[in-house]
Amino acid sequence: MAAQRQDTTPSQTAAVDYDVIVIGAGLSGMYQLYRLRELGLKTRVFEAGTGVGGTWYWNRYPGARFDSESYSYGYSFSKELLQEWEWSEHFAGQPETLRYCNYVADKFDLRRDIQFESRVAAAIYQDATRSWDVTLASGARYSCRFLITAIGPLSTPTLPRIEGRDDFKGQSFHTARWPKEKVDFGGKRVAVIGTGATGIQTIQTIAGEVGHLTVFQRTANWAAPLHNGKIDAATQAKIKAGYPKIFARCQETFACFIHTPDPRGAFEVSDAEREANYEKLYGERGFGIWQGNFKDILIDRKANATISDFIARKIRERVKDQAVAEKLIPRNHGFGTRRVPLETFYYEVYNQDNVDLVDLTETPIERITPEGIRTTENDYAFDIIIYATGFDAITGSFDAIDLRGSGGARLKEKWTHGPETYLGLMVDGFPNMMMLMGPHTALGNIPRSIEYSVDWVTGLLRFATAKGLTLLDATPAGTAAWTDHVKALGVGLLSNEVDSWMTGINRNVEGKQTRIVARYSGSAPAYRARCDEVAAKGYVELRLE
Ligand code: NAP
Repeated sequence: MAAQRQDTTPSQTAAVDYDVIVIGAGLSGMYQLYRLRELGLKTRVFEAGTGVGGTWYWNRYPGARFDSESYSYGYSFSKELLQEWEWSEHFAGQPETLRYCNYVADKFDLRRDIQFESRVAAAIYQDATRSWDVTLASGARYSCRFLITAIGPLSTPTLPRIEGRDDFKGQSFHTARWPKEKVDFGGKRVAVIGTGATGIQTIQTIAGEVGHLTVFQRTANWAAPLHNGKIDAATQAKIKAGYPKIFARCQETFACFIHTPDPRGAFEVSDAEREANYEKLYGERGFGIWQGNFKDILIDRKANATISDFIARKIRERVKDQAVAEKLIPRNHGFGTRRVPLETFYYEVYNQDNVDLVDLTETPIERITPEGIRTTENDYAFDIIIYATGFDAITGSFDAIDLRGSGGARLKEKWTHGPETYLGLMVDGFPNMMMLMGPHTALGNIPRSIEYSVDWVTGLLRFATAKGLTLLDATPAGTAAWTDHVKALGVGLLSNEVDSWMTGINRNVEGKQTRIVARYSGSAPAYRARCDEVAAKGYVELRLE
């Protein structure tokens, strides 16, 4: 289909280059392109990298892998794809996942509509033509009727605000900007700053390879075993036959993982039963210990203390030096109130002679020096510094684009005190812009949420196309109501009382020191029910022209 030409005013019939521009060719952007082609919309995807895959393209750090079961993570939209693709492990590593993304791009011939090495610098809505002007970092400009952001919640890496970073004479890498070439750790003195999910995967993977590893930890995190393993042929066959059930189950659970919460409260069972349950979950694969645990561990402080105590005991058992074990046990938040890193012999790394832990709460970093890192206590010399310091999450990738809506209003300014959205999919005053995995959406097992959001956006564009609409906008009332709803859902959740990327905190970014409710924290089924209702009622909650 050509761009909309059914408006009455001449300016609104002005030709646009594309019906739709999608920013980003990660899992969201790829699937969105596939669906837009079905609608016959002329679509262009702009992608900053040289290939598809988004998160899996950029995060090539050693040990990067899924924390959701591989077979619950892949796309579900194509039965053929599900039968063709075989995951080799229960939790696939990044190289395999990137191969999967490329396989999907090839299978559905997606690349011909994706322009690589094309970072979007600005997107400015034109009231007169009801279209978006999109400018790339190269200066090239394109127009479109509809703009879809598929820029990911964790895609703008942040380096620590530490003096002297550029002085370091060795090699340094942020984990999310890892080079394509292999990094040689043999015999090297290596520092890792950061002990989130990324730091933990990196540390456990390189500890056996480096000469010496020094881990700089500011906040200890609660981690639990991943229990990864190869998928044997019999299990593979079972998975392939069982896909409808696997995805149906993901649709039913709170956050789209395959793990179902225990309907019991932590104190509805005896102490012995509770301990046995924790022991069982600790021995099982994946997020069961977080998502399949007693229903009250993430809302009731006392219930949470029981699982936190259990994990603390595990850490003390696994780490030989009890002084180090105590440093690895979080003190300022309970288990599961930050996204739980899943580990593979992470704690045992600290039993190695070539590994040291520096607790930055005791001896903060003063500066990076040409030779290494200076804390208040020591000068450390390194060949390599790895920054596993995370992302300007959720809103950071929006902030990185000069995004302006109707009347030139800047999104960054509208969101100064936290994001305001309608269903996490639109923002009033930013007509014809739809967001995939933006703020206030259900995240959880991300591809499951992506597929839902893409299908919702596709439904809206199908509707707009059929009706010849050139303007789709959330209303201020709709945006305010959804934003209030999301904030209300966050009340009482222990995770919203803790500093983390999920509460919008990033001490390395100016203006991101105050906690906000950045994500939808209700259940995924409830989220979908609300969005389905809006679609079923013909999107009357939107301003449609
Ligand atoms: P993160 O959880 O935000 O962790 C960043 C780490 O860097 C924290 O330990 C943080 O300490 C530390 N840090 C930041 N600035 C620092 C500074 N100036 N000085 C010292 N330490 C500093 O980021 P992430 O580990 O990249 O993970 C982000 C999310 O990505 C995860 O929660 C998860 O959702 C996703 N992820 C998933 C997988 C997977 O298995 N699929 C793997 C990796 C990541 P503070 O805590 O004190 O701020």
